[in-house]
Amino acid sequence: MGNKNTTIKPPALSSSFDDHALHEECGVAGILSFKKQDVAQLLYRALIALQHRGQDAAGMAVWNGKKKINLHKGLGLVSDAFDEKKLASLNGPLGIAHVRYPTIGAGGVEDAQPFVEKEPFGGIALAHNGNIANYGTVRSRLESGGHAFCSTCDADLMLAVLVKHLNASGLDIFKAISLSMDELDGSYSVCAITAGGELIVYRDPHAIRPLVWGKNDDFIMFASESTALDINDIPLAGDIGAGEALVISSDGKITKRQLIAKPQPRHCMFEYVYFSRPDSVAQGRLIYNVRKELGRRLAKTAPVHADIVVAVPDTSRPAAEGYSQASGIPMEEGLMKNRYVGRTFIMANQALRSTAVKLKLNAVKPLLAGKRVVLIDDSIVRGTTSGPIIKLLRDAGAKEIHLRIACPPTIAPCFYGVDLPTFTELAAANKSVEEIRKMIGADSLAYATIDDLVGAIGMKKEDLCLGCVTGQYPTQLGNDIAAMLKKHGSDADVRVWEKAHPAGKLRGGSC
Ligand code: SF4
Repeated sequence: MGNKNTTIKPPALSSSFDDHALHEECGVAGILSFKKQDVAQLLYRALIALQHRGQDAAGMAVWNGKKKINLHKGLGLVSDAFDEKKLASLNGPLGIAHVRYPTIGAGGVEDAQPFVEKEPFGGIALAHNGNIANYGTVRSRLESGGHAFCSTCDADLMLAVLVKHLNASGLDIFKAISLSMDELDGSYSVCAITAGGELIVYRDPHAIRPLVWGKNDDFIMFASESTALDINDIPLAGDIGAGEALVISSDGKITKRQLIAKPQPRHCMFEYVYFSRPDSVAQGRLIYNVRKELGRRLAKTAPVHADIVVAVPDTSRPAAEGYSQASGIPMEEGLMKNRYVGRTFIMANQALRSTAVKLKLNAVKPLLAGKRVVLIDDSIVRGTTSGPIIKLLRDAGAKEIHLRIACPPTIAPCFYGVDLPTFTELAAANKSVEEIRKMIGADSLAYATIDDLVGAIGMKKEDLCLGCVTGQYPTQLGNDIAAMLKKHGSDADVRVWEKAHPAGKLRGGSC
């Protein structure tokens, strides 16, 4: 690896136009052909299916069937990063791929995944979806031992940790993964390959980020979401378990180990509320059905007399359908989205944000004029977008606007791979529901309860990560960081944490 000096940046604190922008941080896929077919086209299709999880960069590493791993990474959408020629150069029957959403780190191509090391096995490549919460501590430890990093991405760190333990354990892959799990705190769904022709897959002890798998006569595939399997006509077989690891050899032999004695799943609830595609299935649940059920439950816990139900497009639609069905209030497409407006531009002040909302959403006056509207949205983060949307509806003639949020109030940050702002910026961390209602100008405001959320997902509460709605995190470090941030609550809260923390850094690049 190179010896480039790097600066580890704290999580971004800027406001974006899109207050709903609880950005996912990446999607990952891995595939092996049992019949030695090339897999690059399948990985490309998988990345297209995972594009919503990251639009900043894409990468692919493919074993050529002999002794070499070929790598290509590029900035932008999957279609920007790859063309026919590049895909053709990645021929081989085993590969991994990744899409990135950046919030921190340098954000250049050097932070894109996968990462490759020349040894052991004559080459090893790794990509993951998640976030290593103790990035700074582990990085400092490795640097003290002489390791030079060439990026600020935590996948680079994870690969270095895995290689260290592989070398120390006589190349025992399961032992090395187990030791990595002991060393790392955070969320990680990992796909890796070796130049020896092995596909390696593992998920953190709490299975915070999703990772599913499927198989047919030709291929075995792993991916962040089942849509990546669908697009390749590979039937979904299930989910990788918490603390579970698999090694699939080039001849197709699958070896599976449970590396955590008492796994405690804590699946991220936001995958169900917002991030994952509605047509994805995770932990046996169709995401669309979960969101619809959330809407149904919301209609019961937060009823309102109204004429129409309107969704803030697109992710809130299933919840709006559920609310409409349970309440008997008809649903109308009162807000239309312009699909060709990018989601990333920054709007510095409220006037600009209002303009940005208008660029993105159009209120359909004939549907809204004189109507009492139940507006369904999936989250209020900073509270900066709801106001302009409500104004848009009022300007279109809506008589009353009752905002219903299909998720409990977001009161705390995330340390496991989701771009939530810190306590200082989160509306619900600093204001009561009534204060938020006044700020955004709604006639009424209500949120789904935690019981609604847990009931709609249909899991035991203790099997979910609810950190950002309860302030209780699945790992000790998450709780420690949150306590530190609260104690020093200020605009510079992340930097205060970094100063106070022995390693001096909170976390590395978003992956
Ligand atoms: S803190 Fe929130 S966004 Fe982060 S993993 Fe937990 S539930 Fe998901």
